[in-house]
Amino acid sequence: MDSGSSDTLPARPRLPRLLEAQKSTINSFEFDPQKHARVLVLYTGGTIGMKWRVTEGNSGSYVPEPHYLCEALKHFPHLHDRLYSTAFAADDELRPLVLPDTHEPKKILYFIKEYDPLLDSSNMTVQEWVQIADDIQQHYEAFDGFVVLHGTDTMSYTASALSFMLQNLGKPVILTGSQIPVFEVRSDGRDNFVGALILAGIYKIPEVCVYFNHKLFRGNRSTKTDNASFDAFASPNCRPLAEVGIQIYVDYDSIFRPHKLSQFSSFTALNRDVAILRLFPSITASTVKTFLQPPILGCVLQTYGAGNIMARSKDIMDVLHEAHSRGVIIVNISQCSHGVVNPAYETGKALADLGIVPGHDMHGS
Ligand code: ASP
Repeated sequence: MDSGSSDTLPARPRLPRLLEAQKSTINSFEFDPQKHARVLVLYTGGTIGMKWRVTEGNSGSYVPEPHYLCEALKHFPHLHDRLYSTAFAADDELRPLVLPDTHEPKKILYFIKEYDPLLDSSNMTVQEWVQIADDIQQHYEAFDGFVVLHGTDTMSYTASALSFMLQNLGKPVILTGSQIPVFEVRSDGRDNFVGALILAGIYKIPEVCVYFNHKLFRGNRSTKTDNASFDAFASPNCRPLAEVGIQIYVDYDSIFRPHKLSQFSSFTALNRDVAILRLFPSITASTVKTFLQPPILGCVLQTYGAGNIMARSKDIMDVLHEAHSRGVIIVNISQCSHGVVNPAYETGKALADLGIVPGHDMHGS
């Protein structure tokens, strides 16, 4: 396991070749592990770096703007200590970005890898999840932590996927974004970005998390709950892992750590033939049967209450039994935001008796 500590890094570690413009000199900058933490920022898109664009015959919409965020950051004192960065390279293009003093024990240096194309996260697919995992794998040794700038719409999906893809993770991977673009006056993006950089660079939280509105959530328990408020995310079935106020409070008792010493790796052979089926009282056996046809290999079944189903509907139970017998893996999770799947009722036990996997505290909201 990697401890996530920069204290153990050699005095002049080599950085991987990152940004096109930086790659020739980035390895030689004056890095001191006692004074500096290093964070790799993977910028995938999302509102945080978008611009309002009006085209002919169109009232306007937010769109991702290539290079805009990375260029503008260099001239934005709240997010970049330009003077401090001059020590690292003569050429402005080749310097790391430096977070101004945060009263943390180390100065945070950060490097942005911008994705091409930048995406509204509604357009993201497993391909981008794999790219993020590959980038973290490729640059894992050289950084203390990772921030993924991401649209809010599918941020929790990406965080959940990465939490299973990144195995034996020893460093923080923190997804964040914003509801208003970072350079707009009332943006929530600055606080979200600064908080994510600090948590990724300084704190030992070896999990994939979502950081939003001063709270750090376990990624695979997070969900977008509000598309209008800055308080857009929650993890209803799991207390926040950290809260950022005047002080930063980390709930270290809740943080997962790998329990065996194994090398970090990423698992990217993902199967897309897995789908979600939400039960409702008027659903028919033929709908369930059609849904579970090949190529479906896995199904997340969103059930009622503590994991209950219409067990009296023999035709539906037969369809589930048949799919399970064919090898379709079915996981039972509750439609409720709080609580766990628990076969307390006959209507829930009927699923467990079929061999359907109880999803415990994962929820379907
Ligand atoms: N539609 C945007 C996205 O998910 C919303 C956002 O970033 O807040 O990319």
